[in-house]
Amino acid sequence: PLVLGIETSCDETGVGIVRGHTLLADALASSVDEHARFGGVVPEVASRAHLEAIVPTMERALKDAGVTLADIDAIAVTAGPGLAGALLVGVAAAKGYALAAEKPIYGVNHLAAHVAVDTLEHGPLPEPAIALLVSGGHSSLLEVDDLATGVTPLGATIDDAAGEAFDKVARLLGMPFPGGPPIDRAAREGDPAAIPFPRGLTAPKAGPDGKPSAAHRFDFSFSGLKTAVARWVEARERLGEPVPVADVAASFQEAVCDVLVAKAVDACRDRGIETLVIGGGVAANSRLRAMAEERCARHGITVRAPRPKLCTDNGAMVAALGAHLVARGVAPSRLDLPADSAMPLTIVSV
Ligand code: ATP
Ligand code: MG
Ligand code: FE
Repeated sequence: PLVLGIETSCDETGVGIVRGHTLLADALASSVDEHARFGGVVPEVASRAHLEAIVPTMERALKDAGVTLADIDAIAVTAGPGLAGALLVGVAAAKGYALAAEKPIYGVNHLAAHVAVDTLEHGPLPEPAIALLVSGGHSSLLEVDDLATGVTPLGATIDDAAGEAFDKVARLLGMPFPGGPPIDRAAREGDPAAIPFPRGLTAPKAGPDGKPSAAHRFDFSFSGLKTAVARWVEARERLGEPVPVADVAASFQEAVCDVLVAKAVDACRDRGIETLVIGGGVAANSRLRAMAEERCARHGITVRAPRPKLCTDNGAMVAALGAHLVARGVAPSRLDLPADSAMPLTIVSV
């Protein structure tokens, strides 16, 4: 099917067009520069930017793909989770186009789309698979039995998301927002073993029976790590010593990746599943990708991760999930579908 996808859940206005698993267009407009001086995304600014960008981005995607709206089989749109006002712009636009062109509409889950986008790179996802979803607002391990109808959450962060940790640590190192890319770059010049930062929730405490507790086995915690980095940097500054930025970045990144990969491998082995798919903005991280490859290979697990540009928010991921839903015969959404800023991971489409 020829499917168009619209993404406006955060600060990127994205319109993607796919034919089955083939990417035809991925038009993107970002308001990230407008948020940079605030150190985070400002919802009002994001909504306004979507409103200005949505029509030109739509037109550019159609032009890039060399198709017209009449050629499209279905329109998919991120219905949640995300910023309420931002989501509404995309959902309203999708409804307008669907109504005008008489096309079915699919309101889809942004997080499931972060997983589905990999099909554009590597073809159909073997099911079941384990998905490690690591983004600016979420960090979860999921069992994907059927990407069209539902995923089973195995664990999630109990405090900060992985991307949020990158953003906060970057900020305290004086790097720009979003912090993932500058930390990734700085870390290449640093020693990942320079500072032994904590690996949250990886050493299970003994339960009442003396055996290691299974609680939080697949959960994450990054807030203690962030605080440890802040304390370490403050201590150096108090002594009037220079902060070895590259070593701090590399050691922090190593701690995050170590925990993410260890738990993802543990989930695969626990479930007897041989496919790990990594998605979300943090999946663009070069160390995470290399470490996952390396450790999964030892256990006969195949790692799939989309190219870095498809890891962060875009319209192609929404189109990819939409195409999968159409191919699986899932019924479209109602034209009055709501945007749901808190849409749970278990709901793939509304
Ligand atoms: P969510 O998907 O949870 O709603 P979001 O859509 O804002 O959140 P994404 O666009 O998926 O998030 O990811 C953005 C996050 O990815 C930011 O926190 C950013 O710092 C992080 N990120 C991007 N590139 C890298 C990288 N190379 N290394 C580490 N983190 C990265
Ligand atoms: Mg973004
Ligand atoms: Fe996202």
